[in-house]
Amino acid sequence: MPLQLDSLAPLAPRLPSPLQEVEDERFTRRGLRLLLKRDDLIHPALPGNKWRKLAPNLRSVAETGHRRLLTFGGAYSNHLRATAAAGRLLGLHTVGVVRGDELAGRPLNPSLARCAQDGMLLHFVSRAEYRRRADPDFHDELRARFGACAVVPEGGSNTAAVRGCALLGGELRGRTDVAAVACGTGGTLAGMAAGLSAGQRALGVPVLKGGFLAGEVARLQRESFGGPRGDWWLEGRFHGGGYAKVSPRLSDFAADFAGHHGLPALDEIYVAKLLFALTNLAAEGAFPRGSTVTAVVTGQSFPAKP
Ligand SMILES: *Cc1c(COP(=O)(O)O)cnc(C)c1O
Repeated sequence: MPLQLDSLAPLAPRLPSPLQEVEDERFTRRGLRLLLKRDDLIHPALPGNKWRKLAPNLRSVAETGHRRLLTFGGAYSNHLRATAAAGRLLGLHTVGVVRGDELAGRPLNPSLARCAQDGMLLHFVSRAEYRRRADPDFHDELRARFGACAVVPEGGSNTAAVRGCALLGGELRGRTDVAAVACGTGGTLAGMAAGLSAGQRALGVPVLKGGFLAGEVARLQRESFGGPRGDWWLEGRFHGGGYAKVSPRLSDFAADFAGHHGLPALDEIYVAKLLFALTNLAAEGAFPRGSTVTAVVTGQSFPAKP
């Protein structure tokens, strides 16, 4: 039986997400206002941009009548956890194709354990196989193995997701001069930039090394909107060594920032790197005096810290 649209009710979001001003001396000293766009509060089980990207996909899965969702991610993927949680809440089967077949024989880390608890079937593949994650032939092989399913790409970043993230930009119209977001696949930046109005700028802070992201954001905008949209740029100096590399200095910065502003523990892989980047850019004088800078809090720390 196809999923009924009204059964998406368990995913009911808190939207627009709150916009919160924080008084931070490192910004006020430079004549800047710092706002936090609290996307981490959108939904307890699917926080942040993962709700914005998954919800439109789940809507189309509901429409096509699929009962199974297959997607891809690394061992600590927030996207896999959010997909598994959505599956549990909606009664959909979920399959997670996980990078690294060496993980198969080991106890699950807390993130994958949560996925499994939420009913996700975990399929570990080698790094070489994982590189085929966008290959339609690989998807057919996976369908032959796991049955008919809707396939959502790594990080959830397809055209439906990017269009979903344009609503994030829409919520920031008239509210800020710069809207900044940490980037993995770049899908959130691609959508957010498209949703802002003329004169507003979007800043992406890549958390991965490699310099491939500008091309990816351009491709995602082309596929989702038919061409370039919005005024966006990337600051590639703040990946801190690469994906999930968190130095003691960054950890200290994150704990201090959260403590100082009474926030829940920051996600260190993305959100802490974003705020660290903005703090450094403010010190460098990258934003004109009098500007408002908004940092999108795209998620929560996992596992939650006390
Ligand atoms: C997935 C994720 C991102 C990256 O989003 P992309 O659209 O892949 O660039 C940023 N922040 C958090 C907390 C995330 O979970």
